[in-house]
Amino acid sequence: MDCFSAPAHMASWVRESMRQGKTIGFVPTMGALHEGHLALVQKAKELSDRVVVSIFVNQLQFGPQEDFSTYPRDLERDLALVKKEGAHVVFSPNHEDMYPEEMLTKVNVSCITEKLCGAGRPGHFEGVTTVVAKLFNIINPQIAVFGRKDLQQLAVIRRMVHDLNWNIEIIGHPIVRESDGLAMSSRNTYLNSWERKLALSLNRSIKFARQMVVEGEEVAAKVISEVRQFLENEGLSRIEYVSIVDQYTMAEKNVLDHDSIIALAVFVGKTRLIDNGFVFKENE
Ligand code: AMP
Repeated sequence: MDCFSAPAHMASWVRESMRQGKTIGFVPTMGALHEGHLALVQKAKELSDRVVVSIFVNQLQFGPQEDFSTYPRDLERDLALVKKEGAHVVFSPNHEDMYPEEMLTKVNVSCITEKLCGAGRPGHFEGVTTVVAKLFNIINPQIAVFGRKDLQQLAVIRRMVHDLNWNIEIIGHPIVRESDGLAMSSRNTYLNSWERKLALSLNRSIKFARQMVVEGEEVAAKVISEVRQFLENEGLSRIEYVSIVDQYTMAEKNVLDHDSIIALAVFVGKTRLIDNGFVFKENE
């Protein structure tokens, strides 16, 4: 497996692969890899000849009070995992490789970035779309795989690719969960054992919402208020948002349908966790 940190080296590998007529599948990550990331790599392998995984903790998408400096990093371990999974290249630039100068150009998707995580993390999605745009230009993939764990990010990337006429197929992968239902996340390592148990309430609250809908509840506002109550009863009172939205537009839903997703961001202790699920069906 090759590993590059310089964009020019990565781009020359891409040119050689293209010369050989190989299709490229791309999985962008921030490292601290887990089974969720590796499932995306598998998906990319299924759909393309060569798989590139990027590992880059992108400072541009972290707010000043957020966990950029403490974000878990273990490149050696990540490289071993990606190699075992059968990816062909890891692209792991450092900050200066990606941002040798102040960025005077940013990519910003309006409207669908304003609610949910965008409301609580100003500038976050601009950081994401800017780095993903740069990565797409360096790697030139035919397909790119993103997790539905970051539902809004997936919608934003899809929209950016659509609006900018990039010929890249964006694949959304279902959320990969621990056996007890907790959505896998690099940030789960921040949780102590008590918080780890509390964190199960996120997925439970999604199941609770689904149960309400299955039993006939049609009013989104009612489901949201019951879910908030459920979380508070479980001991999670620092709720950033609970919303029911369309999976593509992030528009709030009043009438529930098969594209309706319940999405939440909740603090468990100091750790902010997100989760989501379709209101009508399991997250497939
Ligand atoms: P991150 O390293 O957190 O930036 O995530 C990199 C990619 O992995 C993103 O597309 C995430 O949505 C995806 N991802 C993270 N956790 C999961 C999970 N539990 N299931 C599926 N995809 C995930």
